[in-house]
Amino acid sequence: MAQSETTTSVGEREHPDKSPETVERAKDPEESKPSTRAEISNLDIVRYYFDLAADHLGLADDIRVVFWTPYREVTVQIPVKLSDGKTHVFAGYRIQHNGARGPYKGGIRFHPEVDIDEVRALASLMTWKTAVVNLPYGGAKGGVNCPAQKLEPAELQRIARSFMDKIEKVLGPTRDIPAPDVNTNAQTMAWLMDEYGKLHGHTPAICTGKPIALEGSYGREAATGRGCVYMFREAAPHLGLSPADTTFAVQGYGNVGSWAARIMQQLGATMVAVSDANGAIRSDSGIDANALHEHIADGGLITEFEGAEPIDAEDLIAVPCDVFIPAALGGMIHEHNVDRMQCKMVVEGANSPTTPAADRILNEKGVYVIPDVMANAGGVVVSYFEWVQNLQHFRWDEREVNDKLGTIMRRAYREVSGRAKEERVTLREASYLVGIERVVDAARTRGYISD
Ligand code: NAD
Repeated sequence: MAQSETTTSVGEREHPDKSPETVERAKDPEESKPSTRAEISNLDIVRYYFDLAADHLGLADDIRVVFWTPYREVTVQIPVKLSDGKTHVFAGYRIQHNGARGPYKGGIRFHPEVDIDEVRALASLMTWKTAVVNLPYGGAKGGVNCPAQKLEPAELQRIARSFMDKIEKVLGPTRDIPAPDVNTNAQTMAWLMDEYGKLHGHTPAICTGKPIALEGSYGREAATGRGCVYMFREAAPHLGLSPADTTFAVQGYGNVGSWAARIMQQLGATMVAVSDANGAIRSDSGIDANALHEHIADGGLITEFEGAEPIDAEDLIAVPCDVFIPAALGGMIHEHNVDRMQCKMVVEGANSPTTPAADRILNEKGVYVIPDVMANAGGVVVSYFEWVQNLQHFRWDEREVNDKLGTIMRRAYREVSGRAKEERVTLREASYLVGIERVVDAARTRGYISD
């Protein structure tokens, strides 16, 4: 089936698969357990921060529309026969937000709550993020509204291949390069690359976050978590924190959360609480991040991890710690739970984890927030390295990758924190100022918009 350009307008929501099973699965409390999310959408969150910066920069209304609305939106139908013997129709989205600075870049998420507005929000966040860390990329995002955690690998593979077949025309190593996000991983990228290769020949640079055996980059899997830790290291001295005496809590123990935790632990910091979609645990004497990772990888439940006490997932946020690392979904720190937080620093591993109302309260409380748009950019930085290596058919060793990542993350922190000081704004506002300014400048210089 040919791809269709969507005609829905920003703000409209779609759930094309109305089969009762899928509707039930989408409603399944297991999927959105254990801690509640804010009612404000990711799109409203990103729009709020964009407007704040655009006001600050004095961006005229007509120009503002160019940089808020996406350049291209593709919605496709993905019919897949599942193990229940029925065909389920999922919706797949690829949204290319802005390509002024280079090819579109952004992850693909498999989650039952994916909708077009969420993908729009995440795509625009990628535009600002790639600009903040000064990569030659634009911003994009993709998603399929499937209940990934309940599907078999063979079913996930069919969804990934079918999605690629339908969006390949707008992708390419110089057009748009996907990567993993929630519930997708190196294996998903291998399937996407293979499917693209059937049509275009072997093209490793079509996506990043691939397995090492298939021209993935050393260091990519850990990159987002490692980038968060680089941010912590830059900020720690300002708050009088030394890594060995630092305690931290992690919300979401997937790729980003578990790598951030394992690398924080290498520095000597202690994880005192952690959650995932199945529950939460705490231990004041410390939870071994490596052992927990192995326990979960072996199929264990987080709440069954020995030596830690299971707690209500809603209470994770209230556990006293120096650093809180949200690494799950958007909108999980909101005005109804932010007052319970007792940390000195928030390093946003997840995208849009903090609502604007909660962000204001954190600022008033003096909590130092390192925003998603800079804090979790490590993944896209090493994705960029992977793409560069693929284009050159060359491979760097892990040390080189990590060193180069450190250089870029430290530079971004320096530039953004310098701007924050200069303009007397938060790191988040400063990140958006730096990112938007660079994108507007590129669009003007290439003549996409004129003065
Ligand atoms: P992942 O699927 O590997 O992990 C997500 C984790 O969150 C899982 O442990 C899951 O159990 C947990 N989770 C889900 N719902 C939860 C809930 N209600 N409460 C607590 N935990 C819950 O995904 P990931 O790649 O680690 O991505 C996590 C976040 O980081 C997302 O917001 C993503 O957009 C963002 N991010 C990821 C990357 C990357 O390179 N993977 C890069 C930048 C940003």
